[in-house]
Amino acid sequence: MTAIKTAVPRRRFDVVIVGAGGAGMRASLQLAEAGLNVAVLSKVFPTRSHTVAAQGGIGASLGNMSDDNWHYHFFDTVKGSDWLGDQDAIEFMCREAPKVVYELEHFGMPFDRNPDGTIYQRPFGGHTANYGEKAVQRACAAADRTGHALLHTLYQRNVRAKTHFFVEWMALDIIRDAEGDVVGVTALEMETGELHILEAKCVMFATGGAGRIWQASTNAFINTGDGMGMAARAGVPLEDMEFWQFHPTGVAGAGVLLTEGCRGEGGILRNKNGERFMERYAPTLKDLAPRDFVSRSMDQEIKEGRGCGPNGDYVVLDLTHIGAETIHKRLPSVYEIGINFANVDVTKEPIPVVPTIHYQMGGIPTNIHGQVVAPKNGNPNEVINGFYAMGECSCVSVHGANRLGTNSLLDLLVFGRAAGNHVVSTALKQKEHKPLPENAADFSRARLAKLDSSTSGEYTQDVANDIRSTMQKHCGVFRTQELLDGGVTKINELTSRAKNIHLKDKSKVFNTARIEALELENLIEAANATIVSAAARKESRGAHAHDDHPERDDVNWMKHTLWYSEGNKLDYKPVKLTPLTVESVPPKVRTF
Ligand SMILES: Cc1cc2nc3c(=O)[nH]c(=O)nc-3n(C[C@H](O)[C@H](O)[C@H](O)COP(=O)(O)OP(=O)(O)OC[C@H]3O[C@@H](n4cnc5c(N)ncnc54)[C@H](O)[C@@H]3O)c2cc1C
Repeated sequence: MTAIKTAVPRRRFDVVIVGAGGAGMRASLQLAEAGLNVAVLSKVFPTRSHTVAAQGGIGASLGNMSDDNWHYHFFDTVKGSDWLGDQDAIEFMCREAPKVVYELEHFGMPFDRNPDGTIYQRPFGGHTANYGEKAVQRACAAADRTGHALLHTLYQRNVRAKTHFFVEWMALDIIRDAEGDVVGVTALEMETGELHILEAKCVMFATGGAGRIWQASTNAFINTGDGMGMAARAGVPLEDMEFWQFHPTGVAGAGVLLTEGCRGEGGILRNKNGERFMERYAPTLKDLAPRDFVSRSMDQEIKEGRGCGPNGDYVVLDLTHIGAETIHKRLPSVYEIGINFANVDVTKEPIPVVPTIHYQMGGIPTNIHGQVVAPKNGNPNEVINGFYAMGECSCVSVHGANRLGTNSLLDLLVFGRAAGNHVVSTALKQKEHKPLPENAADFSRARLAKLDSSTSGEYTQDVANDIRSTMQKHCGVFRTQELLDGGVTKINELTSRAKNIHLKDKSKVFNTARIEALELENLIEAANATIVSAAARKESRGAHAHDDHPERDDVNWMKHTLWYSEGNKLDYKPVKLTPLTVESVPPKVRTF
């Protein structure tokens, strides 16, 4: 035992943050500026995190270009969530929104500008004025490269604040002590292949989504759900994982995203007859209805034989009437994506699109301070000491069953900042580190040893590809009980296969095959959480559209799912319907 302990190098910090995307770097900034000793780990260079790919904008009711206030934003978000979002968290987010956007402006973020110098805002799906009456301009944008501008701004501020970055370090497991408190993480230094222990008074997860459990995805290859995997292995439940957003406009065949900003700037979806079909499904908001709604309408058009192309398997996004000048000014990346991924000049012809997996609404359960919570002693939301989560890997839950576009970048900023502030408020600097358990690194060492000693078995990518095709087939835009149950069986089989990986290349230095094998263990947790939670939910709500149960069922199902890895067990907890200061938005049928 002693030999094992001394073999693993250790480092100590006040706080360890896993993830250097928008959420991680917003939190680290708050901590580093307060003088805490902060380490931020990332599998890639910070500015390559998936946040960099965000295009369309950040939602905040600045009211620069149309009448707006946070009450409208709050209402839209509750309705968008199909009443699964927690209304305390939604109120907190919408009220804080202008503050975090102005803060970014003062950090030097290069937003687009109106002629009067204020921040440019474009319309986005589901964002309305006067409680659903008409579309509003709420998305604060830097052309169609908002995430790029955001991430670079935050990185520079962090360098100034002297945050320690551990670049190309992969966290493997959470270390919990006998009381269940989180006291550190184990991590692999990719360059050397060496295992380390990072001790901390507090660990924060900002590891992003698990979009790579699907075949057709707008997500980066690094989005393998590591945070969810680590939490699940450490006995922490995952919340609402059945709710996955399909973005209406992924480039058909390529998966690359065309921002909703395209429709915000006036783009229109058409079927093979050239019809603007969204007028039939959503007479008020049309193409700017929320994403779950638009994706289902597109799928319906395709199913009913009005899809475009030789196989009738996509619809088209028409931007030609917007004009080349606006496209080059407001949507320069969309123009480039059209040329590079579809061989289409979007200023001259419509581009083929299909609903493509984009975002996970669920994740690690937290409260509005970013503290991770789990049921204990009859309390569904008991805090796990020393553990925070924010950003896409977390579920606070502001997005409920369906996220509105621009609310994720907002979520990163608001809850990254709030979690940072909460940690600072606990006077962490004065606290001692809790002792590490004797066996702190044993679990991770055993995982590595198993791979390193493997002599036969499956190839990682064969199993990963089968996970992706299973999820794609069995857990799509429309779901049936038969498909979902079949998916549960298949993912169960894949869980056994994922335990039997043969790592052929046993080298240590930058061995990406070893890293992918470790990521697979996270993919499988996220896939299980998703399919098992989905198969159990017998209603249709937000992004979970169940053909056998087409209605929302508030009596039996207005509750959050909690999935536990051990035994694939499910539990549920109530939705928080009481906001902080305003009146609750009562459930209604969603029409747009
Ligand atoms: C193409 C695209 C466009 C989008 N556009 C918008 C938009 O316009 N508006 C909007 O609101 N939302 C948008 N979204 C959603 C939004 O961008 C994401 O939800 C958000 O950026 C996620 O940020 P994050 O900080 O939680 O995680 P990420 O930015 O994904 O960062 C995750 C970090 O965790 C690190 N990490 C992961 N696992 C480990 C590990 N094991 N060890 C160490 N580090 C690890 C990664 O290296 C990375 O640094 C878009 C998403 C996509 C995919």
